[in-house]
Amino acid sequence: MSDAETPTDDAPRDFIRDIVHADLEAGSVSGIVTRFPPEPNGYLHIGHAKSICLNFGLAHDFGGRCHLRFDDTNPLKEEMEYIDSIQEDVRWLGFDWGEHLFHTSDYFEQLYQWAEVLISDGKAYVDDLSADEIREYRGTLKEPGRSSPFRDRPAEENLDLFRKMRTGEFADGEKVLRARIDMASGNINMRDPVLYRILRGHHPRTGDQWCVYPTYDFAHGQSDAIESITHSVCTLEFEGHRPLYDWLIENLPVPTQPHQYEFARLELTHTVLSKRKLIHLVRDGHVAGWDDPRLPTLSGLRRRGVPAAAIRDFAARIGVSKSNSVHEIALLEHCVRENLNKAAERRMAVLDPLKVVIENYPDCETEILEAVNNPEDESAGTRNVPFSREIWIERSDFMEDPPKKFFRLGPGREVRLRWAYFITCTDVIKDPSGEIVELRCTYDPATKGGQAPDGRKVKGTIHWVSAPHALDAEVRLYDHLFARPDPGAEGDWLDDLAPHSLEIRHGCKLEPDLATFEPGRTLQFERQGYFVADPDSTVDTPVFNRTIGLRDSWAKIQKKAGGK
Ligand code: ATP
Ligand code: MG
Repeated sequence: MSDAETPTDDAPRDFIRDIVHADLEAGSVSGIVTRFPPEPNGYLHIGHAKSICLNFGLAHDFGGRCHLRFDDTNPLKEEMEYIDSIQEDVRWLGFDWGEHLFHTSDYFEQLYQWAEVLISDGKAYVDDLSADEIREYRGTLKEPGRSSPFRDRPAEENLDLFRKMRTGEFADGEKVLRARIDMASGNINMRDPVLYRILRGHHPRTGDQWCVYPTYDFAHGQSDAIESITHSVCTLEFEGHRPLYDWLIENLPVPTQPHQYEFARLELTHTVLSKRKLIHLVRDGHVAGWDDPRLPTLSGLRRRGVPAAAIRDFAARIGVSKSNSVHEIALLEHCVRENLNKAAERRMAVLDPLKVVIENYPDCETEILEAVNNPEDESAGTRNVPFSREIWIERSDFMEDPPKKFFRLGPGREVRLRWAYFITCTDVIKDPSGEIVELRCTYDPATKGGQAPDGRKVKGTIHWVSAPHALDAEVRLYDHLFARPDPGAEGDWLDDLAPHSLEIRHGCKLEPDLATFEPGRTLQFERQGYFVADPDSTVDTPVFNRTIGLRDSWAKIQKKAGGK
């Protein structure tokens, strides 16, 4: 084995990597080639990310290559928009297929020719039964299927009919091509599966050139063989299709002999990962689009501020297994927090502002204070934060009649303003309805930077933003899209949509330098969570999305599981 094929010590191990390892060791393959084969009928989601990380990860770990192949065999459902978004998302996730971009539609002519080979060998036939009849004849798990009356058509007649299917002499659905395998097989997939159907739809790449299209079963393995794929990795629901995959490879003059392996698909709590359901949410307006930050789509997660590295980390942590299980969304969130805690710069932002006037601070004066950008990363440096007589603080950081354990601001109490001074509340101003509209405070000039020279302590530190300098922003607070961890487990899945998964706050007050902060880069609003600027931002009104709050529910779940 060459160095390139030797996995590094810190590379993950799982049953698929064990298989690859053994194949390389035994010399049954000389190098590895994998593929990620999305059907361009929707946007990629975090489940796809698991498959992308696995396929590209295998190629990387074993010094092979991974293809991006669009499995574009159904023109009725596929669109250019999806093809473009898929490429953008795979790249964003950090993977590169280089020059190995393929389309099943590139192989339509070859696949068609191979179908004729099967027909000539008496291993495929044209069937006139309708889709419903085919289903009915197929039998059940307990009962064998029945042969179609057209099963024994002579090869010549089949060939003639199949050619006429291609040239458009029949209507959609009028005939299909089926493999001739075994109507009594214990595996229903082997009961003469459909290989070609007639479909008239404009294909995003081949236009109206074809009106017969291969099924997934016929196209997939043969495309793998054309591309010299060694390990064709797919999800468990295709396990029962593997005998068919192998049968086609054995019965066709394909150039290479790929093998299919199955792993468990990702499922996550509080969300849905079925494309059908995601399309429904988008088309019916339950969310704002494919990149709505509440969706588990990669474009949604990106817009939410989730870094690609956190998704890769999540994929590595859940690993690859052969049994289906549902993962806690809290684990994904934990990975996001862990990544951002190290990487995100800190800023101060007041989401529910309450005005504070510091009465003994000179009017019209502005002072520039220094604040650390990221305590976890010294190289992130410091920034300047303006301070003045009027500031905003979080309404929830003040209580007129605070309980014992409340250490923030109250009448007569002293707290530290982050990076600034100690202040003491001297007065509470209310409007006629009794609502608090302003606090009056004094500051201690000797406490600049947050320490008192006489050593006196304060129990609370709160964040703030200078009022005349503040940037007014809209902030969007997201919660899980579904209230139930298992949407649809009882009743209609749409009934489980959380009623308040988006809360919009206007008039939030941010540190002024956020007006020019690098777009797309997630930051931490101190004491609040992680946030990222949204593309809806305008020069007048920046918009920020909350990626995730600070409190880690995963740690709690782990603690409970450990019985602590
Ligand atoms: P469809 O129902 O349209 O087939 P799909 O989710 O299987 O939806 P594909 O575009 O066929 O979509 O998926 C591309 C690849 O991603 C396939 O190899 C598939 O097995 C894998 N994949 C899809 N969903 C998941 C998931 N939840 N977890 C892991 N892999 C997945
Ligand atoms: Mg699929």
